[in-house]
Amino acid sequence: MTTVGILGGGQLARMLALSGAPLGLRFLVLDSAPDACAAQFAPMLQADYRDQAALASFADQVDVATFDFENVPAESAEWLAARVPVFPSPRALAVAQDRMAEKSLFRELGIPVPEFAAVDSREGLAAALAKVGTPCILKTRRLGYDGKGQFRIKSPADADAAWEALGAQAATVGLILEGFVAFQRELSVVAARGRDGELRAWPLTENWHESGILAASLAPAQADDALQAQALAAARKVAEALDYVGVFALELFLRDGVLLANEMAPRVHNSGHWTIEGAETSQFENHLRAVLGLPLGSTRAVGHSVMLNWIGAMPAALPVLSEAGGHWHDYGKSSREGRKVGHATLRADSTAELADALERVGRALGREAQVAPVITRLR
Ligand code: ATP
Ligand code: MG
Ligand code: MG
Repeated sequence: MTTVGILGGGQLARMLALSGAPLGLRFLVLDSAPDACAAQFAPMLQADYRDQAALASFADQVDVATFDFENVPAESAEWLAARVPVFPSPRALAVAQDRMAEKSLFRELGIPVPEFAAVDSREGLAAALAKVGTPCILKTRRLGYDGKGQFRIKSPADADAAWEALGAQAATVGLILEGFVAFQRELSVVAARGRDGELRAWPLTENWHESGILAASLAPAQADDALQAQALAAARKVAEALDYVGVFALELFLRDGVLLANEMAPRVHNSGHWTIEGAETSQFENHLRAVLGLPLGSTRAVGHSVMLNWIGAMPAALPVLSEAGGHWHDYGKSSREGRKVGHATLRADSTAELADALERVGRALGREAQVAPVITRLR
């Protein structure tokens, strides 16, 4: 019996555990939160990620370790890696944890990126503004997610307000200034790389955000072969440079036919949730296969899928369950503003059917605004 250890016990760990059950896998989750939602399906060690006794006990009980959470302290990942195989590697994790390190790597690899500059003081912000120009976004280098730790700067006059908001964090998690990309679309490529170096990517996904949080994804995105190839080439370069093992996502901005890399997630990704029902093999299953050294499954899309995120509180399930291709995912979390508590996936064989189903669901749930841009794309 193989046991997979997962650092972090949120919905990603929960979906990993659910997808691993048919493979005969056992799981052990390590999380500091007593109510981590993966614990409903997998045994959990409740401890801080820096607690060495807990890490030692975790290492003793698992055959391989992975992450549902990219902000696990790099030292903890390294400590663990000396005792048990850890995928992705602590080095890959460390690069993905730091927006400066990941953007520098993308640039080194010849992958287009927005303008960027590190910021470590108020004077440094002025210098970075002169280099990057406006509009731009000041972001924390580390620990940001769901658009947290970001301040949008429209003109140089906003610099003081930006420093007021984030300046204190320059000394702790660091800051980066990024040019604001007037993109036509946001896309992501989710890919899996096996221990033997085999890489398989799911088709490009188009994503829509509300207040910095993913609201909806459409897959496959409307993208020609050249764009798919551009995304795949970028994903391959990053994965090979990091000798990456497991699933990762590359978030991309499409501007005038060019894909600019925003950030990478060293784990299964929200924009890949549609693969549970909408692809031959889900991102969760392929991540497990990759870290266990098993052959990867096909990443072919089965028809067309839209994923809708439920943020804050779960809506009524019935409108989604009433659709022939409607699938419901309730993470078993308590409601809280801005929290991802569940998602739904609508799948159909044609874009026309998918648009109709989406329209019905959006109307029934009073979520017309969330589904509108997706329907526009589908029609
Ligand atoms: P995630 O939850 O995806 O990890 P995050 O907090 O790491 O989010 P980003 O992905 O950097 O944040 O930004 C969140 C969203 O804000 C992006 O998906 C995009 O819509 C917008 N955004 C971020 N950076 C830029 C940029 N340089 N130009 C234009 N829009 C941006
Ligand atoms: Mg991020
Ligand atoms: Mg992001």
